[in-house]
Amino acid sequence: MKNKPMEKPDAQIAASPDATACDVLERHTDATIDKSTTYCMYCPKLCRFSCPAAEAESRETVTPWALMRLLKLVNDGTVEPSEEVAETFYHCMGCRRCQTWCNHENDVPYAMWTARESMRELGFLPDPLRGLDREFLQYNSAFGEAPEIPAVHGFEVDEVFDPDSTIIYMPDPELRYFSPKSVVRVGILLEMFHGSKVRLETRRNATGFGDSGFPLLSSGNRSAYEDYRARFEDAFAGADLIITDNAQLVAEYRDGASFGRKGPLEVMHIIEFLAERVEMIEPRVDLSGDAIMLHDSCFVGRHLNLYEQTRTLLEALCGRPMDEFSTNRANAPCCGAAGEYHRIAPEASERLASNRVEQMRREGGEKIVCGSAMCVRALNRVSDTDVALDVVDLVCRAFEL
Ligand code: SF4
Ligand code: SF4
Repeated sequence: MKNKPMEKPDAQIAASPDATACDVLERHTDATIDKSTTYCMYCPKLCRFSCPAAEAESRETVTPWALMRLLKLVNDGTVEPSEEVAETFYHCMGCRRCQTWCNHENDVPYAMWTARESMRELGFLPDPLRGLDREFLQYNSAFGEAPEIPAVHGFEVDEVFDPDSTIIYMPDPELRYFSPKSVVRVGILLEMFHGSKVRLETRRNATGFGDSGFPLLSSGNRSAYEDYRARFEDAFAGADLIITDNAQLVAEYRDGASFGRKGPLEVMHIIEFLAERVEMIEPRVDLSGDAIMLHDSCFVGRHLNLYEQTRTLLEALCGRPMDEFSTNRANAPCCGAAGEYHRIAPEASERLASNRVEQMRREGGEKIVCGSAMCVRALNRVSDTDVALDVVDLVCRAFEL
């Protein structure tokens, strides 16, 4: 390798300040990354059209091919790590749409997340992410201290959950922070479908976990992520199951590509949980006439493969198959929110969300439903009125919760 030892990196962000660039890059390059970056080098950019970052930014530097080529050149010592190189690796949302079209099933997000770790260890972290993990570790959340959870239909949060249950509900952080009343609604819903109350685990009264730790992983802080994950697993030891609407949490605890590794916790997405009990669904509200289109969120779809479960559940709620986008399932475009992309490239991120909303209007829809509170927030951020709603929200509406 041609890399020379670098200047002493920023101690605030570097995990091992005495390591040389060569050491760090070698430690973060495995056979999978070596093989996939080599395949990309010789590919005529077959997946370029599918990449949301390339589309939103209209530049070649951020195509999957270019990201992987840059990583290859850094790893073989041709390109020196730098602020600019590190920043480039953040122009990936981890959406996996490129993988849909790749004959080699190259896992670009896995490579990019690993590249972020090595760049961070070498002292390079984009400005918009500085301080993020410090704040995250202070609140166990990327959103600061959590708001109070209000009562719904006269039910207080402590009435609808049972602290002794071994079945846990852990809300998606975006739902918890931006729609806190939904926590009580989901608690009532889960009692209906489980047959008894479940336990709530979330950030409350300045204690508890508001997130699974994915922002630490996305910002390249692997050591902080592993510490956080160990604390998270300890806190939930003894639980039989965690039910969550946070698809990233489920992806982290599933074997497979990108970010997952099986841990001691059994984790299930709430869409899976409800779809398994679909015969119990008898909606109290008729939703059949609503022009709602289904957006397959990247994490619910390409990461967790919950395409059928989502459709089964929504068809039971609406009494008919959900309206589909012309680009759906594994070819659904990303709304631009994931992987810290909104912090890195806010305008491009919002362009992607606007594109999806415009596509909905062109294809005859009035609302979008999706399985991720993060996508709901991203889509509503660019709309005059709230056009997007969560699958969980739709289930609650169907049961007048
Ligand atoms: S990810 Fe696959 S399709 Fe895309 S550039 Fe690399 S080899 Fe080609
Ligand atoms: S995972 Fe998505 S954002 Fe990342 S390179 Fe592939 S298509 Fe682009």
